[in-house]
Amino acid sequence: MKIGFIGLGNMGQHMARNLAAAGHEVTGFDLTAPCPEGVAKADSAAAVAVGADVVVTMLPNGTILKSVAAEIIPAMSAGAVLCDCSTVDVESARSVAEDAKAVGLMAVDAPVSGGIGGADAGTLTFMAGGDDAAFKKVAELFDIMGQKAVHCGEAGAGQAAKICNNMILGITMAGTCEAFALADKLGLDRQKMFDVVSTSSGYSWTMNAYCPAPGVGPTSPADNDYKPGFAAELMLKDLRLSQQAAVAADADTPMGERATELYSTFVEDEDGLGRDFSAMLPRFEKRGRD
Ligand code: NAD
Repeated sequence: MKIGFIGLGNMGQHMARNLAAAGHEVTGFDLTAPCPEGVAKADSAAAVAVGADVVVTMLPNGTILKSVAAEIIPAMSAGAVLCDCSTVDVESARSVAEDAKAVGLMAVDAPVSGGIGGADAGTLTFMAGGDDAAFKKVAELFDIMGQKAVHCGEAGAGQAAKICNNMILGITMAGTCEAFALADKLGLDRQKMFDVVSTSSGYSWTMNAYCPAPGVGPTSPADNDYKPGFAAELMLKDLRLSQQAAVAADADTPMGERATELYSTFVEDEDGLGRDFSAMLPRFEKRGRD
């Protein structure tokens, strides 16, 4: 396929490189980042879109996505697919899909899970929203960039799945960290805490696969001085998207709201910026009830 790729940052550079390595003809554009190996450089987003079968975007947020979409939609050929893999708000995803469909294009919102490591290794999980025909057309690209793709429903369903998953993740990490800090104060050994919880009803991905306590459980960012991994500010971004969606949909999400407040304090008023999201544990460790 002829593929345009816009947004060649931490994630996009690897995804574009993997598509090119699999034999697709990939042209890329980014405001600042260089093109990875195998990807031809274009001078503008619109230039990337001309003649492409699929344009993949991997951008920071919904506002930027909408402005890039406004530039590329008029340049794309009828029947081509606009496949946005960024994490953005549900409303932006839906409005871009509508604008694309209105001029005879197809659209898929397909945010990813798996981080920079997954992008590099081609083992991302894609959660996709859009029509069947659009999903089918890009599914072979998901197979190259990832190991699993779930078609979640119509436009916006991929973003909905992503923010619900990450809301659970943020809440669970905060809960796991506060439980470890409580266990410390009760004199419970962290290894014993892990041995019990990881095989009891409190188990979770954050405890069993990404344990926030250094030296306990599988190797995780906690064992590397909390270097990300999944940065606290990215967790905050996704939690805020979940709360934006909850307000728009009139959903009661008190735990998501509290996790958003916690990560916002951690990132914006404390030392969380640039640290892994599991560094909530040393944060709680230092605190009392006030
Ligand atoms: P990034 O900031 O490293 O990359 C974004 C790129 O977009 C940058 O290189 C930037 O120059 C480029 N860009 C911005 N505006 C542009 C424009 N108008 N035209 C062309 N290029 C433009 O971010 P990232 O870590 O690669 O994340 C990309 C998306 O993936 C985000 O939505 C993020 O939430 C999501 N995501 C990231 C991770 C992760 O671990 N980094 C994991 C899952 C999902």
